[in-house]
Amino acid sequence: MREIVVISGKGGTGKTSITAGFASLAKDTVFADCDVDAPDLHLILKPKIKETIGFHGLKLPVIDRAVCTNCKRCYESCKFDAIDEDINVIKERCEGCGVCTYVCPVNAIDVVDRDSGFVYISETRFGPMVHAILNTAEETSGKLVAEVRKNAKKLAEQENMENILIDGPPGIGCPVTSSITGVDLVLIVTEPTLSAIHDLERVLEVADHFSVPAVVCINKYDINRENTEKIEVYCRNNNVEVIGRIPYDTEVTEAMVVEKTIVEYSSSGRVSKVLMDMWRKIEEKLKS
Ligand code: SF4
Ligand code: SF4
Repeated sequence: MREIVVISGKGGTGKTSITAGFASLAKDTVFADCDVDAPDLHLILKPKIKETIGFHGLKLPVIDRAVCTNCKRCYESCKFDAIDEDINVIKERCEGCGVCTYVCPVNAIDVVDRDSGFVYISETRFGPMVHAILNTAEETSGKLVAEVRKNAKKLAEQENMENILIDGPPGIGCPVTSSITGVDLVLIVTEPTLSAIHDLERVLEVADHFSVPAVVCINKYDINRENTEKIEVYCRNNNVEVIGRIPYDTEVTEAMVVEKTIVEYSSSGRVSKVLMDMWRKIEEKLKS
């Protein structure tokens, strides 16, 4: 089983449209939306939910008032100001570190599972999909990404699938590292903007740190050919292959409006042709 993740240095680079385009082309593949803070692959793939699994990110302290002596040690010890002077737990601030339970002299504090979101096992017109939603004010997206990947692997094993195609989160934070550790290939989507090279450098560093092979594609390469050239030079100098240059085309937005992948919407269009070529290259790389 091989895992491919599509990421980008920042949001809004067309990462999800590209992943959805690949979904039209991929055979024997489980799709996983690991952009859990802003999931949108489901808008195009329209999954039908078959199973919902509760996700418990962190533990939450619960104080037994009948036992509490109001000594305030928990209030004084909480580094996150998540317990107020009246010894109420402020859920939104709690990091689940457990210090309060440790310092309480009368064992008045217990910890319980905290409902942080849901993982969904679904079916799409292209194959099975795992996706998730994180409750508002929850900050355990790295852990939720790991949960989505775990379920995607389980599903791929059960259904005898060859690939897992992951729509990863943007940026370089904890959810990104959680998305790329141990995968077989990272595809970094970039655009020819001034900040793109800097973003690309940072994402490549993360991939390099986790020893994961990375390739690049430049989306809307023709909106600024000078910056595209700079990205290509940077990639050449750093031995990173640019596997695709996707032209700007209004068909991409048109496809999204009608909730189709670009390959479904316009299979012989310019963008689809590049995506087909990129997917072929990705498959070759995964086999080698
Ligand atoms: S678990 Fe940690 S962060 Fe949460 S209230 Fe207790 S001490 Fe504070
Ligand atoms: S440390 Fe325990 S006893 Fe003291 S205020 Fe907190 S919950 Fe109450």
